[in-house]
Order: sequence, then C-alpha cells, then structure tokens
Amino acid sequence: MAYLTLSKINKIYPNGYHAVHNFDLEIEKGEFIVFVGPSGCGKSTTLRMIAGLEDISNGDFLINGQRANEWGPRERQIAMVFQSYALYPQMTVFDNIAFGLTLQGVDEEVIEEKVKKTAAILGLTDYLDRLPRALSGGQRQRVAIGRAIIRKVGVFLMDEPLSNLDAKQRVTMRSEIAQIHRQTGATTIYVTHDQTEAMTLADRIVVMKDGYVQQIGTPKELYYDPVNVFVAGFIGEPPMNFIRGTVKGGKIAFGKNQLDVARKLGGKAKQYEGKEIVFGFRPEAIELGEKSDAYVVKAAVELTEMLGDNTNVYITAEEDKAILKVDPHDTPETDSTITFSIPYGDVYLFEGDTENVIK
Ligand code: ADP
Repeated sequence: MAYLTLSKINKIYPNGYHAVHNFDLEIEKGEFIVFVGPSGCGKSTTLRMIAGLEDISNGDFLINGQRANEWGPRERQIAMVFQSYALYPQMTVFDNIAFGLTLQGVDEEVIEEKVKKTAAILGLTDYLDRLPRALSGGQRQRVAIGRAIIRKVGVFLMDEPLSNLDAKQRVTMRSEIAQIHRQTGATTIYVTHDQTEAMTLADRIVVMKDGYVQQIGTPKELYYDPVNVFVAGFIGEPPMNFIRGTVKGGKIAFGKNQLDVARKLGGKAKQYEGKEIVFGFRPEAIELGEKSDAYVVKAAVELTEMLGDNTNVYITAEEDKAILKVDPHDTPETDSTITFSIPYGDVYLFEGDTENVIK
C-alpha cells in the first residue's frame, strides 16, 4: 500500500478557475518526489492540498490508505518549508529550530538533544547562538529546514525552497537537501520550476502543465522516454531541438537536408505521409561529421558559446534552427558550414497535432 495516494484530485478555486485536473499519484514511504513545471501550472496548489492548507474540490487524498481529505494540517503529520524562510528575527538559531517543540511543551533536555542532532545534520552546530540576520541566505534556509525536520512528521513539503538564494548557494543547498534526505529518509514532496533541481533531487518527477500531469517518471525515464513535446522540451538543458515539417515522399526537410522518416518509423512512415510531424533531438546527442546509422545534416554556424566543459553551437539551416553541444576542442568557426550526424536511436518523432511521441 502506498503511503500517500492522490486519486483524481481536482482544484477549482472559488472564482471558478480549474487549477488542477484529475491528479493521480501514489507515493511510497521515503520517496523524494518533485513537482516541476512552468509558473502557474498548479504545483503549489497541489502541494497546498496535500498540506491541508487548501480544500480538495474533488478526488481522494489518502494517508496510509485512510481518506484524509478532511484532516487538518496537524493531523496529517506534514511539515512544510516555504520559499520565504519565515524565521523569527529576534530568536536565536537554537530557538528558531526548537520553536515547534517548545510550543508543544516538550521537555527541555529532549529539546536540547534534538536541536543539537538537527543542527549537526544541517551543519549549523556553530551557529546556534546567532540571530537570523547574522546568517547567509543558505544558512537561513537550513534553519527553516531544521525547524521542519526536528518535528517527527511523516512528510516534508518544500515549495521552491531555493528561489531566494543566489545561483551558487542554490547549487550548494541543493546537494545539502539531497544529503538531508538520505540521512533522514523522510518522504519529501518538492516543488520547483527548475528542471535541474528536479533532475538532481528526485526519485520520481511529476511534470505538470496547465493543471494537468504530463508525465510521471524517474529522471532517466523523462530524459530518455518523454511522452510529448512539452516534457521533451522541459527536461534537459539546453532543451531538445524541434524541427517541424510535413512528410513529403517519406521525408521531412531540415533546411535543405531531406530526412527519411522511414529510417525511424519503418512501415509506419506511410501513415504520416502528408502530415505534420516534429523531429526532435537533444543538443548533446549529435556527432560532428558524417556517421552511419544516423541522419546527416548540413547547416551554418550562427554563433558559438564556449562554456568550458563544452561549447554550444547555434546552427541554422534555412528557416530551421538548433543548438548542438560539442567538445570545446571541436568548436567550429562562426559562419562556417558544418556537417553533423544524429544517430537514429537518438531521434524522437512527435505527431504535429497532438505533440505526442510516435512510438
Ligand atoms: P504554480 O505553483 O505551478 O506556479 P499555482 O498552483 O500557484 O501554480 O497556481 C495555479 C493556477 O491557479 C494559476 O493560474 C494561479 O493563478 C491560480 N490560482 C492560484 N491561487 C488561486 C486562488 N486563490 N484563486 C484563483 N486562482 C488561483
């Protein structure tokens, strides 16, 4: 039996806005689940329904198999970390972390032991006497996390916890959150619009768009097996390249390059004749030069971006544009013409109208 079950969960706000549609998900104990998607897709709304901060309009929410729709936030045994840390400025780190336990009237010795243990997990041992204003953003966020994990709860909810940190702090804190999860083993649901956070933290990712779940899977499954153009374009950085075209004589055009659709689709190619399809390939899934078992494309180099460990090459072929990721030693000249190959196995084809992947 799953620990948390969301079954056909819907949210319709009082103004009639239908923010979440038939959300289905089973979460096992200890899993790290990430809800990811662009701003406004319904991630926070779903998280708040799980927390008990927002009514569930219809559908069932179960904790350990028991219907919990009507349970209050406390009964649910859930702790939430928000993007604003909401620390008490006049209280020390120790008191901020201890706050929930103090309220519950827990024994002082027990509190001391628990705070010390929590601070050790979070690397805050040396900061217990400080006030929040004397901490960095990352340290403040750790205090906020400490305040949540010190309580013995079943589930941790985090809503964009890193969004107030600068880029460097975000990377550090991201790995710390992963480490805290390994140490505590707490079931975690984490909301972000950042695909890198989703890919690096999650056991499983739920990709959302416009209130609908698009796909649920491990980072690997979403990267290698996206169900549609949206997921394919959302997961991966730089994003997957998409070339739209109509199949004519079994081929679609990528600039002046004619790509034989049957190489990918076999006998199914015929049913797409005269139809629009989307040809997708990842920037990193190419090889320079002309290879076998691959689509070979000639294109002009518009711009290169040297990033150190790789170079992003922006190419154009007539109206079509794409980004290629190449070894920095192979960085081509701007305005030169290059030939590159996309192995058949690394190409994704999608239907032009539904944008669903063609298997
Ligand atoms: P996300 O977390 O993915 O950015 P939200 O869950 O916050 O998205 O919001 C989903 C949609 O619901 C958005 O279009 C938002 O404007 C709308 N929404 C959020 N809160 C309310 C509310 N109280 N009343 C009406 N619409 C709301």
